Amino acid sequence: MSSCKTPHTTELVKTMDVESILHMKEGLGETSYAQNSSLQKKSMEAMKRFIIDSALAVYASKTPEIFTIADLGCSSGTNSLYLAEEIIKAIHERSWQSARLTSEFLVFLNDLPTNDFNAMFLSFPEFNMKFKAGIELQGGSAPSVYIAGIPGSFYGRLFPGNSLDFIYTCYSLHWLSQVPLGLLDSDCKSINKGKMYISNTSPPAVSLAYFKQFQKDFSLFLNSRSAELHLEGRIVILMLGRRTEDHSDKSTTVLWELLDRSLAIMVSQEIIDEEKVDAYNVPFYAPSAKEIEDEVHREGSFVMDHIQAYELSTSTGDPKEDARIISMAIKAIQESMIRHHFGEAIIDTLFQIYSGLLSEFMVKEEIKSSHLLVVLRKSC
Ligand code: SAH
Repeated sequence: MSSCKTPHTTELVKTMDVESILHMKEGLGETSYAQNSSLQKKSMEAMKRFIIDSALAVYASKTPEIFTIADLGCSSGTNSLYLAEEIIKAIHERSWQSARLTSEFLVFLNDLPTNDFNAMFLSFPEFNMKFKAGIELQGGSAPSVYIAGIPGSFYGRLFPGNSLDFIYTCYSLHWLSQVPLGLLDSDCKSINKGKMYISNTSPPAVSLAYFKQFQKDFSLFLNSRSAELHLEGRIVILMLGRRTEDHSDKSTTVLWELLDRSLAIMVSQEIIDEEKVDAYNVPFYAPSAKEIEDEVHREGSFVMDHIQAYELSTSTGDPKEDARIISMAIKAIQESMIRHHFGEAIIDTLFQIYSGLLSEFMVKEEIKSSHLLVVLRKSC
């Protein structure tokens, strides 16, 4: 990147500093991530049993007095505490049936420093009150729940050694630590013209660059978590993934391609420069189950307890409404990066076009998203 010759080009291809730019739309308003993350919640509900069972397995192997949980990439909606609550309730209930009571839970909420942690903290007193009241209403004695925010990248150490029992991370690990290097030719021209992610027309070097970045990041993630988890501790990962080994799995590329087309329309209307579009690439990668397995094997500290690929339909039966929901969700997720690269002024027009294209597409075809569930156990 830094070898680019002209200042103009250098400006266009400047690597996005993901840690200081990426954040989901803050707050609790209509356009916020909190209000536009129902698809992620749907997946968590579908996979809840695996998550709870994995936490119970940790509890059974250790029965600690204080159970420490971390949510990596918690963002600022209700999804994070929803899962924490389910896990705590299940362990608390189990501990009542055993001789040794686990009556204290510590939940670490991690995200990048740009995350709206305040929205999470503000929601905690009400969450805690309802949680306690719910258990006491059934005649039980509620455990103490403490939360703490941990700002920083999960591609590196976040916690002291041997300090965690259980980690869950939902819809965060498909974000890479950076846009891969290697997406430019020797003249600093994009080799992925008009595309922001791997597409059917991308040259093989594009998928390779993305794959290499994934390997590097995921291995660093595993290595860092391995130091932080107790032996027999578990990590549960929910993320977007591919069903196929090749990179053209439509379920992982279709939403990006519709965004590419929206930008192309804006180029044809002379609202944005083509070069600027060529220089935009997202720090995202949807791996296959095999790519995850290979990396876990190579890193060596974890045993794969379970891995499963599954699809979720986004359909509510009304394609126009579905398109609206997806478009709002993508806007809440992507806006910070698009604004950083193209400027504030294009956002509304871009998402109007995007929503229209999505709607046209979804009237003809249902969009199914591909997901991965991974359960890892720390074995050494
Ligand atoms: N877990 C929530 C939020 C998912 S959105 C849910 O399922 O609804 C993805 C989150 O991951 C974002 O808040 C983003 O800031 C965070 N994230 C992305 N890369 C990260 C990194 N390297 N370290 C920590 N958080 C990261």
